[in-house]
Amino acid sequence: MYLIYILFFIIGLFCGSLVNYIAGGVTREPRYFIFSNCRECTQKWRWLYMVPILGFALAKGRCPYCGKPLGLHLILVEIGCGVLFAYLVWRFGLTWELSLTAIYCLVLLILLVTDLEKMLLPNVITYPGFIIVLVLSTAVMALNFEPRWFFYIPATGFFSIVNNYLVNSLLGALTGFILLLLVAVVSRGGMALGDVKLAALIGLMTGFPIIFVALFVGVIGGGLIAGLLLLTRRRGRKDPMPFGPFLCLGGMVALLWGTEILKWYLSPLSTP
Ligand SMILES: [Zn+2]
Repeated sequence: MYLIYILFFIIGLFCGSLVNYIAGGVTREPRYFIFSNCRECTQKWRWLYMVPILGFALAKGRCPYCGKPLGLHLILVEIGCGVLFAYLVWRFGLTWELSLTAIYCLVLLILLVTDLEKMLLPNVITYPGFIIVLVLSTAVMALNFEPRWFFYIPATGFFSIVNNYLVNSLLGALTGFILLLLVAVVSRGGMALGDVKLAALIGLMTGFPIIFVALFVGVIGGGLIAGLLLLTRRRGRKDPMPFGPFLCLGGMVALLWGTEILKWYLSPLSTP
């Protein structure tokens, strides 16, 4: 019985590795894909260095060819992805919901790494991401599935259309897009267009109103970390900080626990 968790943990480790390789490839100039986590040189790695965790340990956290530090986040992504996959199979079992959540989280993880490393949210990930989520949302609607993050809105008559899964997804995307576009306009470039597109993508994944949970968690998380970095003087007031990683984490939290969080938040309204 525990075997399946271990198996999914290992699958997750390898998926986490793949996330790191893809994130490195799409931000490399000129853009191309190689199996190397070094962001400095373009030497293709021997297979032993590509084994999750073990490769990092063998290389002692440095590129085995040019000696540049690899960044601790790479191993955190691998382990995080392993834990995530084990959690997903524990929570959902071997269901379509497991694969849907896993695919969405992997897309968000790639964007998390690219933004963290290079402050980039490449269109080459975001745009195919839109297509993948749109196709899957259509499938969910056509097959009458109801994912865990779907939040039923008590609406009647014409407005009950918001409970159509595809309409709900598109509404989520529109909400994320408009809200962050407003922030981008008001802050005059403090929020990049990449973040706006990312919010739309997350909205398409989570739907409406769960997108609010994703944005809320992203803003709170980003604010806390920014404050902490300022206090510890790790970062000055003027230094730019990527917001994308927090949005991605918010998106994942919303996919996993969005409905629970929203119900908890709304509960004082229903029980006076
Ligand atoms: Zn290197």
